[in-house]
Amino acid sequence: MSMHIPFDNSYARLAPVFYSKQVPEVVKSPSLIAFNQDLAQLLGVTPGETDEMAQVFGGNEVPAGAEPLAQLYAGHQFGNYNPQLGDGRAILLGETVGSDGIRRDIQLKGSGRTAYSRSGDGRAWLGPVLREYVVSEAMHALGIPTTRALAAVATGETVWRETGLPGAVLTRVAGSHLRVGSFEIFARRGDTASLKELTKYALQRHYPQAEGPMGLLRAVRDAQSKLIAAWMGVGFIHGVMNTDNSSISGETIDYGPCAFMDVYHPQTVFSSIDRNGRYAYDNQPDIAVWNLAQLASALIQQLDDPQEGVEEATEIVHAMPALMQEHWLQNFRAKLGITTPHDGDLILISDLLGLIAQNQSDFTNTFRALGTDTARDQFTKPVEYDAWQTNWQERMKDEPDPQALMRRTNPAYIPRNHRIEQMITAAVSGDYTPFHRLNQVLAQPFSDQPKNTDLRHPPTPDEVVPATFCGT
Ligand code: AMP
Ligand code: MG
Repeated sequence: MSMHIPFDNSYARLAPVFYSKQVPEVVKSPSLIAFNQDLAQLLGVTPGETDEMAQVFGGNEVPAGAEPLAQLYAGHQFGNYNPQLGDGRAILLGETVGSDGIRRDIQLKGSGRTAYSRSGDGRAWLGPVLREYVVSEAMHALGIPTTRALAAVATGETVWRETGLPGAVLTRVAGSHLRVGSFEIFARRGDTASLKELTKYALQRHYPQAEGPMGLLRAVRDAQSKLIAAWMGVGFIHGVMNTDNSSISGETIDYGPCAFMDVYHPQTVFSSIDRNGRYAYDNQPDIAVWNLAQLASALIQQLDDPQEGVEEATEIVHAMPALMQEHWLQNFRAKLGITTPHDGDLILISDLLGLIAQNQSDFTNTFRALGTDTARDQFTKPVEYDAWQTNWQERMKDEPDPQALMRRTNPAYIPRNHRIEQMITAAVSGDYTPFHRLNQVLAQPFSDQPKNTDLRHPPTPDEVVPATFCGT
């Protein structure tokens, strides 16, 4: 059977200023590591023979109907504007409209140099490819908007970083790859016509009910607010919330040095390049507002009188913290089994988070254990916890079925950093068993899975991974 992708491309119909056409570079000997059957079905992709899929998802064969291109964008990196980024190691093959009616991008990441590669080699090594595969699929299973992974291919080539490493290509699927930086570039260039064209495109593709640049801004704000609150609820730290990694669709995008917290500490930073903690766990809501403000500045440049837009844009941006807080409260209420809001909920949640931080408890396991007889074990000073628990149980009296709600909001399984590192080490030596196992277990994060409880354990002191590195 031959592979078929029912491409229906829209980005390639936009003016050439938005991208540069580029076919993927050929690799030496592509071999298929993983192919996501469920996602393929959703996209309408008919799988083919393993070797054919390796050729296509390794970049050696351009499938019929694809119109490969690299997208242009700019962005603020750690607060500083970089006027030209773009897909330096990614190529959009095209889009399909899925069985759910949603249009999605199919993109190869690590498929060679493009017009925007600057000094980079356009390649990716196996580690970040498998990390993104596992974490993005886990995120999806957790019910959090995210790009997804359709395939991973080993290229049979060596990629040079500090040392020689096995090369790989990830096939990534996204609602779109439009970023805040996709708009910033045209605003800064004073190219109002392109800015208008892209705004119209984004509205049509993601928010057809919204109208005009301010409608888009409002819609992105709402989507990003939900997203960041969802990250906070599972202890996720993106690590590089630059505006070029901030998606217009409100999906988690560009998994680099991201990580889930084990021990809860609000100022946790994993990324080795984030020396000042700009993108620490607790700073993520503030950064999301900062990023939205950059989008606002860009979008108003297309108004006949940008000054007139300032007031409305400011009001939209200023409403974001309260919106995020509302989603955050809703998420943490659910984590405590609360469906009907009460005034004291914020204090109840904050008190618990304070205890978890003081006790250096595991974020995921503590929430999962609440209401069971192992909850106390999560605390080194359980007496304080006992007092909190008494309050909480009093509060729970009015709740219909808190345990059921908690079991679908507090995951048992998250992609723990030490497990990811162990999985990568095994894969580099040719053993993909841990990779497949992680995918399988993380597909059901809310189920107990008694045979897999080893994957619930926090790292032992010698397993702790203190820092994560960018995918470059
Ligand atoms: P990221 O940190 O993954 O968001 O990437 C930031 C920018 O650097 C994007 O424009 C990437 O396309 C580019 N980039 C990252 N790694 C490479 C690479 N190995 N070769 C070329 N460009 C890259
Ligand atoms: Mg990026």
